[in-house]
Amino acid sequence: MMNKVEKWTLFLDRDGVINKRKIDGYVSTIDEFEFLPGVVETLKELAPFFYRIFIITNQQGIGKGIMTTKSLLDIHDFLHNELKLAGVFIHGIFFCPHLEGTCYCRKPAYGMVSRLAHIFTDVNPRQSVLVGDDVKDILLAIRMGSRPVFIGDHSPLPDTPAFKSLADAKDYIISLRTTSNQPFYKTSARLYKRDKQPHQ
Ligand SMILES: [Zn+2]
Repeated sequence: MMNKVEKWTLFLDRDGVINKRKIDGYVSTIDEFEFLPGVVETLKELAPFFYRIFIITNQQGIGKGIMTTKSLLDIHDFLHNELKLAGVFIHGIFFCPHLEGTCYCRKPAYGMVSRLAHIFTDVNPRQSVLVGDDVKDILLAIRMGSRPVFIGDHSPLPDTPAFKSLADAKDYIISLRTTSNQPFYKTSARLYKRDKQPHQ
């Protein structure tokens, strides 16, 4: 039987981590959804190390009226099925459709995580890794007590290395998963304070 300590969760941002970002716009149809190179294969390799995998994504395009919830759900069905066909089961895709500053779920706020933790009561955010390509993801990871992993050129957090892709980050993610709980980041208080003013 799996020890409770071993129940780690992987949180993934969507755009820029799993699929190509759309420059100056929102991925709003399945045709516009394009997996980044190596993502499917990498998730296949990561999946055995995690008890649950979730995608948490800000989709303000809905709040702006640029896309509908229906089209987003179609994209997420497609994404879910493509990964399932490859042998990767995603336990949930949670999204925030709201405009910035109007809700408690848009990252870096905690709402999507608390919602899914109510449904999946075995999820312990302190035993999780959160992969994202935006400072909002890293800030959320810190608030959750999760281990942040940054995809991009320069990490916004000194203690967190940056990787060009999920594939490049794979070994690091596995190393986080297999490391026992360590003291938390010294920088978190400072980052939280700085973030608080523009977002609240
Ligand atoms: Zn929201």
